[in-house]
Order: sequence, then C-alpha cells, then structure tokens
Amino acid sequence: MEKYNKLVSNKTRDRLKSKFKVCRNGPTNSYTVSSPIGNIVITSCPKGLHTVGQADDVTDENFHPESNITVKLIGQQWSDNGYTYKPALLCIDWIKVYFINPKETLKTSLPPFCSCISSVSGSYREKVWKTLAEQVPVGSTISYGELAKLTGNPHASQAVGSAMRNNPIQLLVPCHRVVRSNGSLGLYSNGTRNKVKEWLLMHEGISDFKKM
Ligand SMILES: [Zn+2]
Repeated sequence: MEKYNKLVSNKTRDRLKSKFKVCRNGPTNSYTVSSPIGNIVITSCPKGLHTVGQADDVTDENFHPESNITVKLIGQQWSDNGYTYKPALLCIDWIKVYFINPKETLKTSLPPFCSCISSVSGSYREKVWKTLAEQVPVGSTISYGELAKLTGNPHASQAVGSAMRNNPIQLLVPCHRVVRSNGSLGLYSNGTRNKVKEWLLMHEGISDFKKM
C-alpha cells in the first residue's frame, strides 16, 4: 500500500481538509481506490460519507479511461486510529459493483452519508442529492428542471444546478445523469471533466445524448 501523502496530490488534500473538517461523529479517514476513470478518494467519518470524488488532477486533457482497471484499495490515510469506517468500506464495495456492472448497484444499498454534509450545505441541496441518488436509476438521465420537479419544487432549476456543482458524493449521487433539457450533456465538474461524464453514461448503456 502506498503512502497516502504520495498518492493524494496537495490540491486534493487541501480541498478535503477544508471540506467538512469538523464532524461531531468523530475523526475522518480517507481511502483511495483505483478505478477505470482514475483514482477515487473517499472521505468518511465513522457514521457516514463526507466526500467521494476523482483525484483532482483528472481533466479532459489527461483522461485515459481503462476499463480493465479493477477497483482496489490502494491507500488510506490512517490504517488504525481506533475507529472503524464502515461507510467507507460499503462505499468501496458499491464502487466495485458499479464498475463491473452498473445495473447491479440497484440491488446494492447506498452507504450512509454523514449528516454534517447537509448542515454545511443546506437542506435543499441535501434533498436534491438524495432525490437524485434514490430516484434516478442507472441507465437513465434527467434534466435540471425535471429533477427540480421531482424534489417538489418545479421552479428550482437554478438551485438544482448549484446542488450539482457542489455535489460532494460523486457517482453515488449521480450528477452525471443530469443533462440539459435539449438532451446535450452540459458541464461536468465545471466543464473540466465532460469526457468523464460521457464515459460514465456510456458505461451505463446510454449513448443517445447530444455531444457538446
Ligand atoms: Zn461525519
């Protein structure tokens, strides 16, 4: 297992440090797994996930998906600090299943998200994330407006867009399934990872989207 500091760039570490630093549920731990879309970093406290996301250095310019890369734990911040991190372990299992056969995640329960996510980001955002994770299944897409409707707030497309831009739990809260109402893909990670969005949708069996 490689050393965490070597594996995770300074940029990723700074972002994770500043995000949800304080949690009443205990100290956080970070896990890095390999995947076909590059390394994925999971941060969790003992009670729930804080963040799931690709390592910060992945962009459209250097994105080289490799379908044969298996999801494996390749590094973790603390190997034993006296706490167990079940949500992170469940998340690794979920990600494994997702990359082998995304449809199987329908039978895999989502790991719990830490309540501190909503206290930091506001409850409407949390509602959007949960609605998206629970009601927009693998292999489907939804527009910002439709997702706003699903949350019971049809005029909130802009707030939905902002929730997507600030989504802390990539893949499990599938913001890659949110597309523009004209069917074009829209931006992923502020437009720096549109190829990742395209890859994820194709991986889920969707190919009839309009390319930008
Ligand atoms: Zn927490």
